[in-house]
Amino acid sequence: MPELAIDKKTQWECIRCGACCEGIIVGKSRDISVIKRGKPVCKYLDEDSKLCLNYENRPFICRIYPFVLDMDAIKGADGVARPQQAFKLENLKIHSECPGLGKGRRIYANKNLLKKLEKLALEFAINYKRYINKEIKIDELI
Ligand code: SF4
Ligand code: SF4
Repeated sequence: MPELAIDKKTQWECIRCGACCEGIIVGKSRDISVIKRGKPVCKYLDEDSKLCLNYENRPFICRIYPFVLDMDAIKGADGVARPQQAFKLENLKIHSECPGLGKGRRIYANKNLLKKLEKLALEFAINYKRYINKEIKIDELI
């Protein structure tokens, strides 16, 4: 899956096309996918409205999409884990198959989006600790 670096000019906006729920994400999270008309579709996708029927409890991968975490970015040169650092735009990647890429505002200038990523980073940091302490599995982390 092609994942691109984010630069100052990268634009993105979710156009609510539902493509991530019809193959892109569900290909990774098989426990939520069902096969319909020969392709994987999330069991929570309302195919008419293209909306998620499990929105409040959707997996982390759905909430962060189309941004992609580089797990290697969590550990700095000193080997100390800093999970929030993986959410810095210079470390995050964006999935090239999302049709919202190239649309909307520039990511670096989109304060609402940056705030949302900050919130996700905080949540991820808490869960990362739980993962390290073996309280949750990798699937529950990402
Ligand atoms: S594929 Fe991209 S644009 Fe379409 S619903 Fe998902 S995040 Fe939004
Ligand atoms: S849980 Fe919701 S957001 Fe995630 S793939 Fe399914 S329909 Fe899409």
